[in-house]
Amino acid sequence: MEILKDYLAETQGQELNAEMLTFTANIDAVAKKNPQVAKKIVKELDDQRSNLKLIASENFCSLAVQSAMGNLLTDKYAEGYPGNRFYAGCDNVDDLENMAIEEAKKLFGCEHAFVQPHSGADANLVAFWAILRKKIQAPIMEKLKQTNLLALSKEEWDYIRMQMGNQKMLGMDLFSGGHLTHGYRYNASAQMFDSYFYNVSKETGRLDYDELRKRLHEIRPLIFLIGFSAYTRNVDFAVMRQLADEVGAVLMVDMAHFAGLVAGGAMTDNANPIPFADIVTTTTHKTLRGPRGGMVLCTMEYAEYVDKACPHIMGGPLPHIMAAKAIAFEEARSPEFKTYAENIVENARNLGIALVEGGLDILTGGTDNHMVIINVESLGLTGRQAENALRECGMTLNRNTVPFDKNGPWYTSGLRLGTPAMTTLGMGKAEMVEIADIMATVLKNTRPTKTKKGDISKANYKLDENIKEASIKRVRAILDRFPLYPEIDTDFFKKYF
Ligand SMILES: *Cc1c(COP(=O)(O)O)cnc(C)c1O
Repeated sequence: MEILKDYLAETQGQELNAEMLTFTANIDAVAKKNPQVAKKIVKELDDQRSNLKLIASENFCSLAVQSAMGNLLTDKYAEGYPGNRFYAGCDNVDDLENMAIEEAKKLFGCEHAFVQPHSGADANLVAFWAILRKKIQAPIMEKLKQTNLLALSKEEWDYIRMQMGNQKMLGMDLFSGGHLTHGYRYNASAQMFDSYFYNVSKETGRLDYDELRKRLHEIRPLIFLIGFSAYTRNVDFAVMRQLADEVGAVLMVDMAHFAGLVAGGAMTDNANPIPFADIVTTTTHKTLRGPRGGMVLCTMEYAEYVDKACPHIMGGPLPHIMAAKAIAFEEARSPEFKTYAENIVENARNLGIALVEGGLDILTGGTDNHMVIINVESLGLTGRQAENALRECGMTLNRNTVPFDKNGPWYTSGLRLGTPAMTTLGMGKAEMVEIADIMATVLKNTRPTKTKKGDISKANYKLDENIKEASIKRVRAILDRFPLYPEIDTDFFKKYF
């Protein structure tokens, strides 16, 4: 296979398309080792081009971010933090990490940034343990007049371990939209902490601050954690700060989903957690539109504990991803990003309105952020059936539990959709209205089938074939007008794969 050579021959005399050239060279290099892997990369691009990306946690990062990720930086070990490494030869990684840190601080206006976490879940572990070390371990060490853990007796060490392993955390219930790393029993966080939950109100589907205050005073947790993956309303973080202070809790915010909206100025004042929280965690690949990764932002009070994630809970950071973070954070400070962030919210609002007009049941009746959650129960469907039917019609999204869900976390009763990826492609109100209409049409023409025993199935369904065909056409017509990475021509690869 001579993919790059063929490309160069084919384009001789034409103006150079650097993005296509880079992509072709990458595929060529991969294909020489393993054509099957190269094929899957090209196929994934085709898939993401021919299906509408409605997944609220996904996006399309820039080709510059992608290029920064895919290179030799991955070969470097850099345990520690800039200027404090356990390995030699970290000069360039120090500079790159510092660039990402400085960009993050400018972008979010925070006192301190730690850009090493490999993911959102990783960032949460770093934050949890930084809080535990600062609030529990450090005071005990001070009492013992010790600074060296290795000098502790077995009894002293066991005492610290016991104290650290028995702290309370109060987070949002998974079914109300919280994340599994916030104390869900099947996640290690529930084994690290004595964890408790708050729910959204049954009546309004929103957080009820009076109920929250009651719950906080009842539990009196070490960590009061606000963050969610499936909640569509703004939170007043000034009120959260006050509530945390009433019980002396650490206010931790996990803004994994909405970091891009904070960065782009679409969530300001009390909806921006940075000025109010002690410690903020995030992913960098959702609305923030950077490489797949995580980050911790905090006050100087927590800086040294967060920076010592290695040796505590992390090994080496990912230098190639930190390089890509520096690029993405700089991109996020541009005027274009601000417009993008505003458009995400505008699109989500319009999508919600159009879905309601199409007769669908939306949680809380609308949205303040980038996502909309549909309850499909009234259509007689489970989230799983709805998810699969829509995917057959060219729309990729995920099923999600709704508060107090009767169908559990596997089948669910909800669908979560988000506008970040579609907004990145440049779509606006007209497309949101069209998409809502396609979705409503598909869902209303999907029926659950019966199981062998004669019960209504939670998994299987029948979708009207004509509706399916027409919907795919409508989805493709939208996507044709908003191509993903238009610089890259995947047709070129058809003769190879
Ligand atoms: C996505 C998400 C995470 C986890 O991020 P990963 O990068 O998948 O580990 C953590 N918290 C919240 C609130 C999230 O939405």
